[in-house]
Amino acid sequence: MENIKAIRGFDDVFFEEAKKFRFITNTFRELFRIYNFEEIILPIVEYKELFDRSVGEITDIVQKEMFVFEDKSKRVLALRPEGTAGVVRSVIENGLLYKKPFLKLFYEGPMFRYERPQSGRKRQFHQIGCEVLGLEDPASDFEVIKLCFEAFKMLNIDITLEINSIGCPVCRPSYREALTSYLTNVEGLCKDCEERRFKNPLRVLDCKVETCKDLTKEAPVMLDYLCEDCSNHYKSLKTYLDTFNIPYKENPRLVRGLDYYTKTVFEFIKDGLTLLAGGRYDNLIESLGGPKTPAIGFAAGIERLMLFTEAKSEEPLYTVVYIEDTKLEAIKVANELRKNGKRVEIILKGSNLKKKLEIADKIGASFAIIIGPDELKKGIYILKNMFTKEQKEIKNLGDI
Ligand SMILES: [Zn+2]
Ligand SMILES: [Zn+2]
Repeated sequence: MENIKAIRGFDDVFFEEAKKFRFITNTFRELFRIYNFEEIILPIVEYKELFDRSVGEITDIVQKEMFVFEDKSKRVLALRPEGTAGVVRSVIENGLLYKKPFLKLFYEGPMFRYERPQSGRKRQFHQIGCEVLGLEDPASDFEVIKLCFEAFKMLNIDITLEINSIGCPVCRPSYREALTSYLTNVEGLCKDCEERRFKNPLRVLDCKVETCKDLTKEAPVMLDYLCEDCSNHYKSLKTYLDTFNIPYKENPRLVRGLDYYTKTVFEFIKDGLTLLAGGRYDNLIESLGGPKTPAIGFAAGIERLMLFTEAKSEEPLYTVVYIEDTKLEAIKVANELRKNGKRVEIILKGSNLKKKLEIADKIGASFAIIIGPDELKKGIYILKNMFTKEQKEIKNLGDI
């Protein structure tokens, strides 16, 4: 019989990779803590309609990449392709916006998209992200970006921040008109863009196809069409970024194709890959049936961050090496050291001290506490440094 394998694009994460994964999530979690975010834990499955209405039927995510299925009661469900829709659904459903003057929520977990699996892009992937709901002040845009900036510093990833403003329902229509009329006279766009130019012309600007990039070089940009409110918001954000020394690049091609996105959009980019993307979406909550609520958030792809992260060096591992007569003492030693917060392994395999020391070495021990028959008699332990091979006698475990 053939062994059962994991599904394509659904990866197992273990050893060093699992450590990297947790290093990343713990880094963001620590920042969410000091920025006073609260966690929201949400279901992985939602009604498909939620994503149709939020992520939009015209985006690739919904059109091509969602895992959709029917349950036994013929409900049409989807594995969540992203996190924001679920947060907003929950906030509206549970009336959370009426419980606090504003909300700062973060989430973490698996997301699902039926894409061609490649490095850093899996069908089950993981995101960590947040949503700030009920604050329209550009200082809240700054805080969210600053938090991300700190995260990359802590993860030791050298990154480029790109920002843009994509306006609002007041100023965007005239821009969209200008862009559409520009695009009408452009020939040779890719097949996707041919379709996008009427349905969703902004998306043409972030097409990755070279000819499309070339053909839209001279296209009008949103920044020239911002209304006073959007323009002031964007200026304030830049002032905060400048004041607090966060380097950024303005990228007029940074867009989101959806109407509920407004004003600020930003991405953190490394080697051409977007590791984290965010922006303001002042109209999403209302469009899903909630009260009119300004909002901003971001999501970071953990697998993508892992491509550029080194696992943090570990705390030392203490091993306890014994002979049969000293086994009880060995367990006692391990208990004692663990009580003091040390990472400890009793070497239960191996028939003699020499073999046990070899095993200790193989599992990456920093130290071995050796309890042989002579040591037991004398009431001492031998502490061996596994790297320098130095040994010394110790009487008291508290000295370790
Ligand atoms: Zn505007
Ligand atoms: Zn294109």
